[in-house]
Amino acid sequence: MARERQLSRRTLLGGAAATAGAVTLTTTAGTASAAGRDVDVAVVGAGLAGLTAARDLVAAGRTVAVLEARDRVGGRVVNLPLGNGGVTEGGGEFIGPTQDRIKALADSLGVATFPTYNTGKNLLYKDGKKTAYATDGLLGAVPPVDVAGLANAAIVQASLNDMAKQIPVEAPWTAAKAAEWDRQTFETWLRANAVVPSAKFLLDVACTSIFSAEPRELSLLFVVSYIATAGNASNPGTLERLTETANGAQELRFVGGSQLVPARLAATLGDRLVLSAPVRSIARSGGRYVVTADGTTVTADRVVVAVPPPLAARIAYDPLLPAGRDQLTQRLPMASVGKAIAVYDTPFWRADGLNGQVVSDTGVVSSTFDNSPPDASYGALMGFIEADEMRALDSASEAAVRAAVLKDYVTYFGEKAASPSSFVLQRWNNEAYTRGGPVSIAAPGVLTQYGPALREPVGGIHWAGTETSTYWMGFMDGAVRSGERVAREVLAAL
Ligand SMILES: Cc1cc2nc3c(=O)[nH]c(=O)nc-3n(C[C@H](O)[C@H](O)[C@H](O)COP(=O)(O)OP(=O)(O)OC[C@H]3O[C@@H](n4cnc5c(N)ncnc54)[C@H](O)[C@@H]3O)c2cc1C
Repeated sequence: MARERQLSRRTLLGGAAATAGAVTLTTTAGTASAAGRDVDVAVVGAGLAGLTAARDLVAAGRTVAVLEARDRVGGRVVNLPLGNGGVTEGGGEFIGPTQDRIKALADSLGVATFPTYNTGKNLLYKDGKKTAYATDGLLGAVPPVDVAGLANAAIVQASLNDMAKQIPVEAPWTAAKAAEWDRQTFETWLRANAVVPSAKFLLDVACTSIFSAEPRELSLLFVVSYIATAGNASNPGTLERLTETANGAQELRFVGGSQLVPARLAATLGDRLVLSAPVRSIARSGGRYVVTADGTTVTADRVVVAVPPPLAARIAYDPLLPAGRDQLTQRLPMASVGKAIAVYDTPFWRADGLNGQVVSDTGVVSSTFDNSPPDASYGALMGFIEADEMRALDSASEAAVRAAVLKDYVTYFGEKAASPSSFVLQRWNNEAYTRGGPVSIAAPGVLTQYGPALREPVGGIHWAGTETSTYWMGFMDGAVRSGERVAREVLAAL
């Protein structure tokens, strides 16, 4: 019998309920009645992509079961409780212009936005020197390195934007220069084009901030494709829309924390959603599919797999997937990222005229944001730990990471940063059902050889997730778009 369960605030929302009201879910997670369900569509994964797909399929009158490995929804979007009763976001957090689908979804669920704190000066920390700089001048948010570096960086940025304009977002591997761009790493290209050291520094920081990967890990084609997706059908993607706060992808945050969006969406699905049910196998049987998860088996006409590509590769498929699809998922690893949030009684840096945003050439945290709540009732500094820096700390004790992060915060914001009232760390590389983040990345040769397998259904198995989106791939918006697209695809096929 279905078990009515009020998920604890901590489990579902990570404490967001304190500010936004508890969400009650009816779930059959772990109960015998979950076994033997027979539905039109089984959805694997209750991140934004899977939940959006399920919503649209249910709205079209289809029967659906959503199987989620974790004991919470949201996947790469999670609210974490702070010691003071507030919440902070451990994963996806910001949205910005042209991210129309996540905004529409949040609006429909009554989740409001507020501007990311962006008043006052940014900080550049480079060569052991701190420079505070305004972002409303000619340079915008570009850190004020030497003039030669700024000029070089501007040319590189314009080139990347021009290259992005040549990418068909539905099939980057068909771009006229796809082969040329996919046989070199972003590092190789930067060395030839960002020839002034300070320009290379700016592009390196942009790269790790956007991808949580080093330039040597990425195909140039993948980088320009990613830039191309940072827009919508009427606004071509640009590098600056990825990197900037005002008018960029970091412009807005969600009141109550981003996980409210998937949590409220999940609440509309009732007992169609089964938590703590990692899917282990998908087997075709008599023209239908048997989806086997821990404690649960679902039989369905169609299956939507809405998990990151490397996680999709861990499911056993019978019959085997085509080689191209499997080899694609062998070659799209997750990047490496963590977030460290230090909480203070007040956002003390604001009194010093700082907005909490840092770009640095050193430390374990080289970019930070002011993650305080809208009423600034306390202060929160959020730092990204990215790529090589994250990998070096995957196995470190939490105390060691905390010490390294606070050392950086003191360097940037002074002694007051040394003693937070609480400290929250989220290391995505260590999360069983994500194993990195924010997104899967592609090295040279992957998109041109295997790209078409990204979205191509295999029989009745359809692929979703932010990595499959033609706009805002890697972002919450891309996840929502992919869920909407896969639902249309499945409905057309049923
Ligand atoms: C540190 C970090 C910062 C980020 N910052 C931003 C940001 O500021 N703005 C932004 O827009 N985006 C950001 N992102 C990216 C954003 O969070 C993701 O693009 C988006 O949430 C992906 O949603 P999804 O549904 O495609 O995948 P996921 O959220 O990964 O959902 C997949 C779901 O599938 C589940 N799953 C995995 N394997 C199985 C299995 N075998 N069986 C059943 N379930 C399974 C997982 O538990 C998960 O719930 C960030 C991500 C990270 C990690």
